[in-house]
Amino acid sequence: MIYLDNAATTKMSRTAIDTMLFYMDQVYGNPSSLHSIGQKANEALYDARARMAKLLGCEAREITFTSGGSEADNQAILSAAYIGKKNGKTHIISTAFEHHAVLHTLNKLEKEGFKITLLPVEETGIILPKQVADALRPDTCLVTVMYANNEIGTIQPIKEIGQLCREKGVLFHTDAVQAAGHLGIDVKEQNIDLLSLSAHKFHGPKGIGALYARKGIRLTNIIEGGAQERGKRAGTENIPAIMGMTAAFEEACCHMNENAERITFLRDKLIAGLSQIPHALLNGDAQKRLPGNVSFCFEGIEGESLLLLLDDKGVCASSGSACTSGSLDPSHVLLAIGRVHDIAHGSLRLTLSDENTEEEIEYTVKAVKEVVEYLRSISPIWRDLVSGKKEFIIK
Ligand SMILES: *Cc1c(COP(=O)(O)O)cnc(C)c1O
Repeated sequence: MIYLDNAATTKMSRTAIDTMLFYMDQVYGNPSSLHSIGQKANEALYDARARMAKLLGCEAREITFTSGGSEADNQAILSAAYIGKKNGKTHIISTAFEHHAVLHTLNKLEKEGFKITLLPVEETGIILPKQVADALRPDTCLVTVMYANNEIGTIQPIKEIGQLCREKGVLFHTDAVQAAGHLGIDVKEQNIDLLSLSAHKFHGPKGIGALYARKGIRLTNIIEGGAQERGKRAGTENIPAIMGMTAAFEEACCHMNENAERITFLRDKLIAGLSQIPHALLNGDAQKRLPGNVSFCFEGIEGESLLLLLDDKGVCASSGSACTSGSLDPSHVLLAIGRVHDIAHGSLRLTLSDENTEEEIEYTVKAVKEVVEYLRSISPIWRDLVSGKKEFIIK
C-alpha cells in the first residue's frame, strides 16, 4: 500500500517505538511515587519536558503534557477565555477553517455568553494579519489561528498575527498540530502565548500531546484529580508516550530541513501530475503550504467513491479531515475558501511523509487519473456538463 494520509496520522518512527518499549519495560514507576522506581520515572518526565521546551524555544515549566492535540486546544482556549472573563473581556477571534477541536470549543463558549468572530478565509487559504487587526476590539481576550491547516495545508502568518495581539495585550493561541515537526517553531520569536501540538502527526504515538502556555498564563483544568502537571492536568503521566513523543519530535526537528526539501519536491511533482486532469483545481496557495500537503477538487465526481477506488488500487488517501469522512456534509474548510457544495464533494487530500518515493508519486498520479476518468464516465452530472446542459464551475 502507498500511504498518503499523513495529515490524519503518521506511522511511528523506529526511534519512537524503541523509546516507548524501553520505558514500558524498564521505567514503569509512577512519577509521583517517592521510591527509587518512581523517581526514575520522574527523572524521565523532567528530561522530556526540558527537551520539548528546548525545541519550542520556551522553558520547561511552560509545557503541560496532554492526551493530544484536541485536549491541548480545548485547554488553551478555555483557559484564555476564562482569564478574559475575569477581566471583563469576552470577545474571541478565530477563523472559519479551524479544526473542530477549536471550533466546537468556541461553540461551547458562545453558549456561555462569549462573543465569537470567525474570520472568513480568502481563496488562497491564508488569513491576512489585517483581517485580525480589523477584528480586534477593546473587549477581545483571545485570538486563535492555526499555524497550518489540516485539510489544505496552507501556512498562516502567525508571527505577524502574534505581534498584533502582543501590541494590544490580547492572548494568542495557535493550533500547531499540523506544523509541529514540519515547520519551524520558536514561541518567543513568533509571539505565541499558547500552542498545541500532537505526537501522532510527526511519527510519534497517538494519545499524547503538549500545550505550551507562556509563564503567567493561568491554565483552567479540564481533568480534575491529582496534582500532576503542576495541578493543571490530573492523571498519572503516560511516561512511555511522553518519551516516545519527545524522541519523535527531536528526530523530526533534527531532520526538518532535509525532509522538507525532499517532500516538497514530491509534493510539487504530484501537484503537477494531477493538474493535468481537466476540470481539476488545487485547493490553497501553491507555495505557502505544508511540504507534504496536496489537496484537489475534481468536478463531476464524488470524493467518497474516489477514495474507495484508490484504496482498491493500493493508495490510502482522504477527502479532507478524518472527522468529516463518513458524513455527507462537505468539508467546512473547502466551503470556507469558497468552494461550492458540488465542487467540495469532489475533493481529494494526499499527504506525504519522508517515507514516500518518487515511484509511488508517479503511480499515484496514474491511479488518480484513471479513477477520475472512470468515475466521470459513469456520472450523469458529468454527462450533463460535457453535453453543455450544465455549465462547468472549474474551467
Ligand atoms: C489532528 C489535529 C488535531 C487533533 O489532534 P489529536 O491529537 O488527534 O487530538 C487538532 N488540530 C489539528 C490541526 C489537527 O490536524
